[in-house]
Amino acid sequence: MKGLEQEIARRRTFGIISHPDAGKTTLTEKLLLFGGAINTAGAVKSNKIKMHARSDWMEIEKQRGISVSTSVMGFEYKGKKINLLDTPGHQDFAEDTFRTLTAVDSVIMVIDCVKGVEIQTEKLMEVCRMRNTPVLAFINKLDREGRDPFELLDEIEQKLNIKVRPLSWPIGMGKSFRGVYNLFEKRLNLFEPGKAKITDNQIEFEDINSPELEDYIGENAAAELREEIELIEGVYPEFSKTEYLNGEVAPVFFGSAVNNFGVNELLNCFVQIAPEPKSRETEEREVIPTEEDFTGFVFKIHANMDPKHRNRIAFIRVCSGKFERNKFYHRVRENQKMRFSNVTAFMAQDKEIIDEAYPGDIVGLYDTGNLKIGDTLFESNGSNFKGIPAFSPEIFKEVINKDAMKTKQLEKGLRQLMDEGVAQLFEYEMGARKIVGTVGALQFEVIQHRLKEEYGASVAFQPQNIYKACWVSAKSEKDMNEFIKSKRRHIAKDKDGKYVFMAESKAWLQMIQDNFPEITVHFTSEF
Ligand code: GDP
Repeated sequence: MKGLEQEIARRRTFGIISHPDAGKTTLTEKLLLFGGAINTAGAVKSNKIKMHARSDWMEIEKQRGISVSTSVMGFEYKGKKINLLDTPGHQDFAEDTFRTLTAVDSVIMVIDCVKGVEIQTEKLMEVCRMRNTPVLAFINKLDREGRDPFELLDEIEQKLNIKVRPLSWPIGMGKSFRGVYNLFEKRLNLFEPGKAKITDNQIEFEDINSPELEDYIGENAAAELREEIELIEGVYPEFSKTEYLNGEVAPVFFGSAVNNFGVNELLNCFVQIAPEPKSRETEEREVIPTEEDFTGFVFKIHANMDPKHRNRIAFIRVCSGKFERNKFYHRVRENQKMRFSNVTAFMAQDKEIIDEAYPGDIVGLYDTGNLKIGDTLFESNGSNFKGIPAFSPEIFKEVINKDAMKTKQLEKGLRQLMDEGVAQLFEYEMGARKIVGTVGALQFEVIQHRLKEEYGASVAFQPQNIYKACWVSAKSEKDMNEFIKSKRRHIAKDKDGKYVFMAESKAWLQMIQDNFPEITVHFTSEF
């Protein structure tokens, strides 16, 4: 299958992550501009949710619309097929971002040079580390007075627990920002603020000791740059692509996204070093992209905007083989045969109907409620892909049914919303109480509103005193049974029927760990 191999080799599937406001939306747009995928600025809508008044319903609804169109942006650049996956910036939707990160092969991380490494970036980096996802860092907003570049690099190493290797270096900063020296391609890139054109003013510059440097940036800046470059070459080992691909070192670029500055270099380096689609673990074996049979998994489900037609788009990451429209595929869960005629590919400018897709690609399948997050689809034989763990939610509330006549609708609505990954549901064995767990407060409003609008069910939420939901494993079945029996009041089951211990406090959890040494608690569903 030569064609298949070639298609795989040219795919680059990645996501951009950042703390809100660092410049993710701006960088996304500039990458699309430099990549030739869009012509005008303003085409990429921020997926930010701005919550001002209480219940900004329209905002969330609008957001759902926007995030379908910018969920995946595909474009061609220098012979590569690039798939950029959007990740919601709002921390209440962090789980969505975590899941999206399971569908990418690498990430670009944006850091604000004034603020440095922020909390959301730290959390996202932890998720990247779970799969050793290669990370490229872009330090943004160099047109502002930021922190010392060396200090920023140290902070990345310390807080994100990854080695760094600068591949470009800033000349000045803020008002005195003159440009960057690109160590990767040995070029000098001079800064002009507010530059509208999308070609950088790059000058071949092999040897920074050449006296010409003074002509471009002046004596002082030249001396300082030489000194700093010498320091970099002394302190940081030479860039190793292998280490980057293993997730051990993050190459770092500096720039100013809003000024179109440094973005082109980032993109050019990205297409040269970023990984092509990799093998993936299933519960039984490793699936290699070049295998002829199609496999893929659902990492995101998007409810349609039209509540009257309850169809949804399931986002599938193709992992191996060629995906073809109208072909029968199996779903691992219940081994059901399914066929999809309405298949969407996401290009930067619009959605288009496609007939086939290759590993690394994301396809959108229209579905009436059969597929759920984590489902694996395959052609002839397959088992579930690993890698979509659930994380313990932060906020827990019990679902109170306010309209007994609509119990069936409520059950169905809850199930479908949970399949979409809006929140997690835990059901206590005792008393059949249902607890919804979320990362942020926003989701409760989303759930309440959508249950009413789409399913006609009315619910209220009762806050619960729960610190964490902990998945449990035991040395033996007997140990597990004994634990479950003695703590039954605090044991619930997650969507897959796995046992979860609902801990009320940190101290209490510690006590459990001390008293039941044969039981291990986990904060994610996969261990
Ligand atoms: P996101 O929340 O990470 O998607 O951030 P945005 O892309 O929406 O950017 C947040 C704010 O930072 C916006 O007002 C941008 O115009 C601004 N911004 C982005 N890049 C730069 C930059 O290079 N320099 C400066 N000064 N501001 C920037």
